[in-house]
Amino acid sequence: MNRFSLEERPVILSVARSAKSNDPEGAGVHSAFRSFLPRVRVLLLSLLALLTPTAHAQKPTTSPVSGQTVYSLTQQLLSVAPKRYNGSPGHAAAENFIVDHFKPEAAKGNFEKDEFTANTPAGPQTLRNYIVRFPGKRDGVIVLASHYETNYPLRNIHFVGANDGACTTALLIAIGQYLRTHPPTGYSVWLVFDDGEEAVQDWNYTAYTDHTYGTRHLAAKWYADGILRKIKAFIVADMIGDKNLDILQEQGSTPWLRELLRKAAANTGHSAAISKDQGSEDDDHIPFLQRGVPSLDVIDMNYGPHTFDMPDGYHHTADDTIDKISAQSLQTSADILLELVRLINAR
Ligand code: ZN
Repeated sequence: MNRFSLEERPVILSVARSAKSNDPEGAGVHSAFRSFLPRVRVLLLSLLALLTPTAHAQKPTTSPVSGQTVYSLTQQLLSVAPKRYNGSPGHAAAENFIVDHFKPEAAKGNFEKDEFTANTPAGPQTLRNYIVRFPGKRDGVIVLASHYETNYPLRNIHFVGANDGACTTALLIAIGQYLRTHPPTGYSVWLVFDDGEEAVQDWNYTAYTDHTYGTRHLAAKWYADGILRKIKAFIVADMIGDKNLDILQEQGSTPWLRELLRKAAANTGHSAAISKDQGSEDDDHIPFLQRGVPSLDVIDMNYGPHTFDMPDGYHHTADDTIDKISAQSLQTSADILLELVRLINAR
């Protein structure tokens, strides 16, 4: 992913953030009963909470996908595939890690390897996307995507991308494990583990094509075979394991999906995880946006302290390690993504 510089695109910052989930209705009920019948009040509030589990959430609503499980999967992926740059043994190990977790889907014909050759500044590279399908009941598909590789230009430093690539790969695997036992009742949900998101040399290299190799390939392929028309929403998860979770309201993303992101965070009690900043990012959603698919980049670019030496914090440095992410943030991200899927279905 690449942050637009201000020279490239004037982005930033009109903060029009909606109010946090203060639950004025709940507060009204609270004050009305404050001075008498406290037990009745508690009972009524409990019933209200039961009847409307998400509409006025104040406490986080924990989804069935465990943040601790996602964290453990991240640890496992990093132990077998710490460096995952294109063509490396770790890249192959990461692919095997993904394949190994979806054997039941492969047995049903719902697991696809999409291999292609990318023409990069370092020459042709063989890259692979993996697509896992969980069929639903309605005609249409919601895609959740994450890249899994690490940066080719960082191959000579110890860059493991715990937040950048690893934890969102783990997040999608855990969501897949949930969908295996709880198949979608609305639109189908497809998981896309995409390759070659990172630039091989420079994001802005030659005609601006040294990046998003996997998603550009997939968007073109799905356009050619007609699948693209079925995609109701293409949602990218990127760098959302950060201990200090601060999810950008990414301005390039489709407006109604941005609105649903805020709503999903409010409904699950995680409004504080949505940043006030409204910047733009280049990421894996762009190739789908360009082909008219509603797309959303769920990304936290405010990663670690920003210093003179590290203007982008831990982003694309050897400091992007497992200790910088947390099970709690991964829980928040899982909660928000699953609620987002529910809200897209309810739209
Ligand atoms: Zn990156």
